[in-house]
Amino acid sequence: MKIAFIKGDGIGPEVTEQALKVLNAVSERFKLKFEYQEALLGGSAIDKTGVPLPDETIDICMKCDAVFLGAVGGPKWDDLPGKLRPEAGLLGIRKALKLFANLRPVMLFPQLRAASPLKEEILSKGFDIMIIRELTGGVYFGEKKRVETAEGIKAWDKMEYTSHEIERIARIAFCIARKRRKKMTIVDKANVLESSKLWREITGRIMADYPDVEASYMYVDNAAMQLVRNPGQFDVMLTENLFGDILSDEASMLVGSLGMLPSASLGATKVRLFEPIHGSAPDIAGKDEANPLAAILSCGMMLKYGFGMEKEAGAVLEAVNNVLDKGYRTVDIMQPGMTLVGTEKMGSLVAECIKA
Ligand code: NAD
Repeated sequence: MKIAFIKGDGIGPEVTEQALKVLNAVSERFKLKFEYQEALLGGSAIDKTGVPLPDETIDICMKCDAVFLGAVGGPKWDDLPGKLRPEAGLLGIRKALKLFANLRPVMLFPQLRAASPLKEEILSKGFDIMIIRELTGGVYFGEKKRVETAEGIKAWDKMEYTSHEIERIARIAFCIARKRRKKMTIVDKANVLESSKLWREITGRIMADYPDVEASYMYVDNAAMQLVRNPGQFDVMLTENLFGDILSDEASMLVGSLGMLPSASLGATKVRLFEPIHGSAPDIAGKDEANPLAAILSCGMMLKYGFGMEKEAGAVLEAVNNVLDKGYRTVDIMQPGMTLVGTEKMGSLVAECIKA
């Protein structure tokens, strides 16, 4: 398997290093051969090439079986114009690889219950949610403009979706729901937004092809509230780009830290992209404080959703569970009585566990 590794900026290289350690451990234990190729994106690409997404990066990614991304961005590049900022590279690679479906599992590790801000009476019911976020449409990709008017400057961002964009992600979501608890909540704002009304129309039609999946709709404001009130009610949540961005970050706190959440992006080509959901965390970069588990779990998703290696993916999840069982914690999930470890050590512990 050929994997493009994009370390990125801030804590990106630190957590990617740990993900690589774990992948090497998987390769050793299961006698697999992974070939790695490094590519540039975001701030580090700007520094070396002047652009956030060099053509060479797209070429490398297209020739690989999967792409692993650390994180990009940081204050150093914040004052650049929009198209030259690191985040433009991120949106660009998603667009270039046609990655329209972002899968974000939100699973409560029982060992981390104390790190969650939710009350025990909610946590005790447990939750295991798969948020499926549309990734290449909506307001992030719609027309953006500013004009001078008599009342001052006016700015807008256009939220638009085609029926094709909605149908292709809905079908993926229904297929995933079929392999889980067969429940799907489609999150929108159909009481206000025309694009949401189209989502309802198209998904309503598609539902008929998946009668075994119990599907329902929920307004995004209610969904934001229900996620903290009763997360156990959700199985698969399907939503558009902006709502998915916000809800998945909210959901990340249910499990205690952004540093615990992996993601997979699937699309129209064979190349899939795997990345932790967190950003480059410039506030802790270079301090050996970042939690690498989101990156490591993203490797697990790569094995499962990228290469169909269920057993190997299971070994990664088991190793993470073992290390947490033994009481090792990075600072973001630290609790009294546990053993504090840094990024490097946490990566090594998981890798050793896989090899053992
Ligand atoms: P962030 O996710 O980088 O950080 C938010 C908070 O969570 C910070 O306090 C950070 O220290 C903490 N955090 C994040 N990951 C952590 C980890 N693995 N372990 C422990 N703590 C962790 O979000 P932000 O601060 O809003 O953004 C910082 C930069 O990252 C910005 O330039 C932003 O554009 C970029 N960003 C990139 C991506 C990506 O590459 N996919 C995603 C989100 C934000």
